[in-house]
Amino acid sequence: MRRLRNVKIVATLGPASDTYETIRALHEAGADVFRLNMSHGSHEEIASKHAIIRKVEEDTGSAIAILADLQGPKLRVGVFAGDSEMLDEGAKFRLDLNEKDGNSSRVCLPHPEIFEALEVGKTLLVNDGKIRLKVEDCGPDFADCVVIAGGVISNRKGVNVPDVELPLAALSAKDKADLAFVADLGVDWIALSFVQRAADVEEAKDLIKGRAAVLSKIEKPNAVDRFDHILQVSDGIMVARGDLGVELPVQNVPPIQKRLVRKCRHAGKPVIVATQMLESMIESPMPTRAEVSDVATAIYEGADAVMLSAESAAGSYPIEAVTTMDRVAAEVEQDPTYTQIIEASRSASRASVADGIVAAAREIAETTDIKAICCFTQSGTTALLVARERPRVPILALTPLARTARRMTLSWGCNCYVTTTMERFKQAVVGAARAAREGGFAGPEDQIVVTAGVPFNVPGTTNILRVAPCDERLIYSTDPE
Ligand code: PGA
Ligand code: MN
Repeated sequence: MRRLRNVKIVATLGPASDTYETIRALHEAGADVFRLNMSHGSHEEIASKHAIIRKVEEDTGSAIAILADLQGPKLRVGVFAGDSEMLDEGAKFRLDLNEKDGNSSRVCLPHPEIFEALEVGKTLLVNDGKIRLKVEDCGPDFADCVVIAGGVISNRKGVNVPDVELPLAALSAKDKADLAFVADLGVDWIALSFVQRAADVEEAKDLIKGRAAVLSKIEKPNAVDRFDHILQVSDGIMVARGDLGVELPVQNVPPIQKRLVRKCRHAGKPVIVATQMLESMIESPMPTRAEVSDVATAIYEGADAVMLSAESAAGSYPIEAVTTMDRVAAEVEQDPTYTQIIEASRSASRASVADGIVAAAREIAETTDIKAICCFTQSGTTALLVARERPRVPILALTPLARTARRMTLSWGCNCYVTTTMERFKQAVVGAARAAREGGFAGPEDQIVVTAGVPFNVPGTTNILRVAPCDERLIYSTDPE
């Protein structure tokens, strides 16, 4: 499906979007990638959404990426005898390992590792940071705290410990079971929550074994500090502003977002800006001006994708939320200021043959009347290089591998098509011209740029650039072999 924008839209699926009709409507309205949140829903429900997405893909003939988001080491308190309690500022409150129901003076925090790592003076945040507790005394099985900011605490509320490096495994037992399940099911991306160090990503990669690309969610202060190393070992990044804005003061989030997006662009790896982008649309068909501005800002910054969470998973207006993002994106990308910003922050091309070829492809396409850059890619690496150039003309990522096409749908500007296996360059040129014409990117009189690696079917070998007509007869009369 041809989009009139380059930035991608990720839509989270949930109870508000679990039927074929809604998922298809979300895709047609603009969702390029669907996110399955492993924190909610049984394996059966996940499998059902997965099957529906693959059916929509087949029926519409467009590659769609599925991103499975693992819950990660999320900390939660236990339950209360009365389901909830009010904690007043200045009161004392104890967290411990006692499994008995909680009351107004204590509750279970069933994570012994946390008590090992806590120190006097450290902060614990409960319920999205609304309640703030300071540790006054602690031991291997308890922490006595004073309430700094009060509020209602209820069953299984989340706990964040921003200023402590958690001695937790990157993947819980649940994460490992979920990972095995989604990898077998066949998802394109697996997102890791609360990544703290590059080793966490490597541990997950060892289990995933290349069956899906790996996306690191940046939502801990120590992940921000170690970002360069985490980026190196990840295939993509999510700026997870929800937990990041709990673990750090909220005003720290915008500069971090800008810095992370820029670094991902330079590295040529896709980056998603996520959480609360159109939050009010959970309940309203109209976004606020501030939300529209937030979506626009992420696009001006050069993000590969913007994401909807509860707006599409549990809200009353999932389709309207996608349509809003789609319209904002189309408008921003027509703005000459957008082009100026994107081009001013383009990084110098690197010293490799493939980089040189994609830079040349962009140069030719932008200085002559070329309708599209068509790149043949096995692993997706060449498509990423072209996307990194942020060319003004559309990118067609052509690959014989469905999994590569799906994976690339997260990347800026990539229109992904599955082709037959190519044996000769002339065949590839014909395939590119057909895709460009069938996709509505070019007419019979137009010209395209084609890049490929010969011999074919070897990843990382891009070494040919050709300007070709879109008329097959011309291709046969002008193309050598
Ligand atoms: P979550 O991640 O929705 O899984 O918490 C995103 C975020 O924290 O922003
Ligand atoms: Mn999160």
